[in-house]
Amino acid sequence: RPARRVVTLDDLPLRDDLRGLSPYGAPQIDVPVRLNTNENPHPPSAGLVDALGKAATLAATEANRYPDRDAEALRADLAYYLTSDAGFGVHTAQVWAANGSNEILQQLCQVFGGPGRTAVGFEPSYSMHRLIALATATGWVGEQRAEDFTLDAERVAGAIHRHRPALLFLASPNNPTATALGLDVISAACDAMEEVGSGVVVVDEAYAEFRRAGVPSALTLLPDHPRLVVTRTMSKAFALAGARVGYLAAHPAVVDALALVRLPYHLSSFTQAIARTALAHADELLGTVEAVKAQRDLLARELPQLGCEVAPSDANFVLFGHFTDQRAVWQGLLDAGVLVRDVGLGGWLRVTAGLPAETDAFLAALRAVLTGNP
Ligand code: PMP
Repeated sequence: RPARRVVTLDDLPLRDDLRGLSPYGAPQIDVPVRLNTNENPHPPSAGLVDALGKAATLAATEANRYPDRDAEALRADLAYYLTSDAGFGVHTAQVWAANGSNEILQQLCQVFGGPGRTAVGFEPSYSMHRLIALATATGWVGEQRAEDFTLDAERVAGAIHRHRPALLFLASPNNPTATALGLDVISAACDAMEEVGSGVVVVDEAYAEFRRAGVPSALTLLPDHPRLVVTRTMSKAFALAGARVGYLAAHPAVVDALALVRLPYHLSSFTQAIARTALAHADELLGTVEAVKAQRDLLARELPQLGCEVAPSDANFVLFGHFTDQRAVWQGLLDAGVLVRDVGLGGWLRVTAGLPAETDAFLAALRAVLTGNP
């Protein structure tokens, strides 16, 4: 009998648990105003472009050599950067870096998850938590946030006691709902995980730099909670999504564990050099955070004027609604040249805070869509 010809993905000898999954994908449509992927809208300054180019050139002179496998210098820079948010001197041994925080999350699932183990998240949240868990053959339990998208200590501790997860994912600020968690919720999660002894608490702080004044980072809890892992990224606040740099802070033993699954030389010498150069320009780059926060606050003020509900935002985006048909609003905005994100949350849409002209274009388009006067 002739071998069956492979014509579609369904014909491939795929892992059974991958069948039926959809890949992660934000539709990229070429329109004038793109506010759909929570990027920082500020391109690097001419001075920074020059510095990044020089760093890449210098790295190129040694491109015949493998990079520093443990990215020691970059991790030391990141540790130094985290120190002010942490409120204590973060040590290089507590920091790990990889290609985007997605790779960090994947390495965490590889180390702590796997067949027969479970990861728990509170939905709606960042969909990659679930997808990365499933891709690493880790079971997934999607617990629900409260109706108003909040999450309290009781709900989180209850889920830990019920499921005894290998990994518990908490995004703070959460994507797509934008609100940060109180430290009481995170420490309750760590305490409950300590009690059941089953796994680690991963706080995904991809948007931490955008949080409102007075909201502390989960980093401050690290000294008291060895099961706590805080992940961060240079994609958002550092406006470096194209370079793919994510990192974490945790107990040094967690960092040692990640070395078991990381690929040798996973972080290229170019990536390390670019990331270090961006960190050397932290003041300039973090200046863009203030500009983005101002646009975020403007959106939060203006959207209610248009009759919209807005979830309180500690991030560089705003969740707004509540529409009877969010898909029609999304399409109406797109027809006006403005791309926002339909995150599949009935009645709600997510808009990234962009440049002032983009905010204006978005608000004008939304006003036209909602009043039926394009
Ligand atoms: N975590 C959250 C909550 C995110 O929204 C994103 C990006 N959309 C990431 C992690 C991944 O970011 P990156 O891989 O670019 O670091």
